[in-house]
Amino acid sequence: MLSLPDFPVRQRDFLLEISRAITAQLDLEEVLRRVLHASVVMTAARVGVVALRDAAELFTVRAYTGVQKEQIPILNNKLQELIGAADGGFNVEFLNAKLREMAETIDPSLVQFVAMPLIFAEKPLGLLIVFRSYQVRVTVNDVQILQSFADQAAIAVRNAQLYEGMKQEQQRLEAILQYSGDGVMILDATLSVLQVNRAFEFMTAWRAADIEGLLHDEVIVWQNDTRFDLANALEGVKPARGEAPPPTLYVEGDIQRRDGGTLSVGITYAPIFHRDGRLMTVIANLRDITNFRKAQEMQNVFISTVSHELRTPVAIIKGYASTLNREDAQWNPDVIRQSLSVIEDEADRLTELIDDLLTASKIQAEQGVRLQLADVHLDVLAQRAVERFAPQTNRHRFTLSFQENFPSIQGDAKLLRQVVDNLLTNAIKYSPNGGTITVGGRYTDHSVTFFVRDEGTGISESEQARIFDRFYRVDNNLTSKTKGTGLGLYLVKAIIEAHHGEINVKSQPSQGSTFYFTLPRD
Ligand code: ADP
Repeated sequence: MLSLPDFPVRQRDFLLEISRAITAQLDLEEVLRRVLHASVVMTAARVGVVALRDAAELFTVRAYTGVQKEQIPILNNKLQELIGAADGGFNVEFLNAKLREMAETIDPSLVQFVAMPLIFAEKPLGLLIVFRSYQVRVTVNDVQILQSFADQAAIAVRNAQLYEGMKQEQQRLEAILQYSGDGVMILDATLSVLQVNRAFEFMTAWRAADIEGLLHDEVIVWQNDTRFDLANALEGVKPARGEAPPPTLYVEGDIQRRDGGTLSVGITYAPIFHRDGRLMTVIANLRDITNFRKAQEMQNVFISTVSHELRTPVAIIKGYASTLNREDAQWNPDVIRQSLSVIEDEADRLTELIDDLLTASKIQAEQGVRLQLADVHLDVLAQRAVERFAPQTNRHRFTLSFQENFPSIQGDAKLLRQVVDNLLTNAIKYSPNGGTITVGGRYTDHSVTFFVRDEGTGISESEQARIFDRFYRVDNNLTSKTKGTGLGLYLVKAIIEAHHGEINVKSQPSQGSTFYFTLPRD
């Protein structure tokens, strides 16, 4: 025990040392060790323990002196029984009983103990306990000394918790940033790049290491006629003092990639200002809008094609109907019959077109096709289709080529009929010079294959990859002269895939085409 005059001086020295350790941001264990050392020396104790509450709110020993390492788990068990007592404020008797048990565990010669809670903002963070091997009166002084050290320890623990919390938050933000599907670029007040994420690297072909420190305008280079000056735009949204946060800025266009390519993007800039109106940082969020643009383009092509396609039969119907309806004319029955049959044909075409459109939009809305399954005989379906189509053309010859005993399959008869009709319509449309159209089928134990072969214009390999896309039509002289919406093969493919089948084409320019699909037999 120190002699009395030294006491306040020593205590002050210890406190200074501990607070230095705290401000020097030494790790928590080191601060706790110093707190414990000071407490034990100042109270002339033999054993000291600091226990803290962990994330699960359990007390565990985090620093100790005068205790064997093997005894720590036993002490932890005893400490854990203290939780209930600590939550409702410390119950002195219960606490004393537990502390006595702890003292006995450590060393039966320990006969006295003083415990001090570590409290910060009224929250119990832990306990500081010293044990003595002799009985003396616990003085007010003892309590005050321990209290002063416990307060310091509580500050250190609180700091460590805040630091840990901050570190976790930072890791979380970093993960959000890095794994975001959108490209993210963080700029400082001078609009230099501070950081970019992986998606940004991928989208722009820039490497993060090459980009940091560059100016925004050196990295984001707009192509074509996009005129956007970030610095100017930010001036425009600068908030007046006390005003709500500024709106984000959005720009859309093509940017130049590092590798020379271009990319269609939409960039949202979110500026963050200091309270005094100075710019602090800008977070730019890049989204690849290539697909969106493509879809928009397709939509436009679609609307113009569809309106054209709808208008033609309507104009023909209107023309024939108003001619027949003229009051000043008398038509002989042949002319009337011919005109009516044209009207009927055109009405059929309209219905077909509208059916295709409806099916396409249904497939899109339902993300697939719903099937009404029944036994379907593809060979019979093919024969009926040929019977319907043959009278419509005198340039083409039709032949059927089905392997004997062609099996039926489970499928949606109405939809499969639409498939066969579409393939036959195309075979006729895209072989303007006529030729033979063969419809046939083969089968194995597991599947059936159905094909439609023509001797028409054929399709180049690069186009073959795209003809099944929605609204896609090959851009050539023949297509521009033939009617179509580019929906036929898209529907065919969707229907075949809904049947768990596969559709393909074999073709070469001016060598004809064979469209074939395979369906499972069960
Ligand atoms: P559409 O016939 O309405 O244009 P499709 O989706 O049925 O639409 O076909 C897409 C494109 O594929 C057609 O524009 C055409 O260029 C090409 N195509 C389809 N079938 C054939 C075929 N049998 N021979 C040659 N080209 C074809």
